[in-house]
Amino acid sequence: MADFNTHVFGAAAVVSLGATCCTKLLSLGMTDGLMLTVAGMVGGILPDIDLKQSQPSRALFSGLGTIAALAWLFANVDAFTGLELWLGAITVFLLVRFPLWWMFHSITKHRGILHSQIAAIMAGVLMSAAAWQLLESNELQSWLLGIFMTLGYLIHLILDELYSVDFTGVRVRRSFGSAMKPLDMQQLPASCLVIFITLVAWFWTAPYDTAWQQWQALYTDWRPALIPHWIWNNL
Ligand SMILES: [Zn+2]
Repeated sequence: MADFNTHVFGAAAVVSLGATCCTKLLSLGMTDGLMLTVAGMVGGILPDIDLKQSQPSRALFSGLGTIAALAWLFANVDAFTGLELWLGAITVFLLVRFPLWWMFHSITKHRGILHSQIAAIMAGVLMSAAAWQLLESNELQSWLLGIFMTLGYLIHLILDELYSVDFTGVRVRRSFGSAMKPLDMQQLPASCLVIFITLVAWFWTAPYDTAWQQWQALYTDWRPALIPHWIWNNL
């Protein structure tokens, strides 16, 4: 069944192969190859943040809460005393972790819009924009990270579809077809919101023609890079 472990290992198996091939073909550094694998694995668990009691959901909102608390703390470090800063940061964390988490789950439903192909594209475009704006990646790196995020996300949707079993392991045949859909027609406002976020995030991504030129400049012959010579010589 496509539970949390299946999603982690399924995504890891496919994206690590993709990342290894990219590393060899483009002569990337080890850090770049590892970052691509991590992006793909995060993509592989991300769709299940729409399930309230899931590990991805709790981890995401704990992470967001920590970032928000630290941002608030550093922005106010001159204005307050140590005790006030500590209490304020904890309050910010708790607000994100509980009321915001609760609000998010009151508007999303499991295997709704976040289990769709358009959401997979949104995740990739957001990853690409974040890498370009915040991580000091170059054009090609930022797009590769986005593509790997989408790849991991799609693997999640395929695994859900293959198993048609819900997160807790209960067989729900009627869920078949609910993971792999282009859009969620039952949730049109949510679908429009996802398209809107994707289009806005697109403006923050790196120029893709520059990324393509970098790809072409780095690309080497795939045969010696990927296939061992003892196989290649016998073909
Ligand atoms: Zn899922």
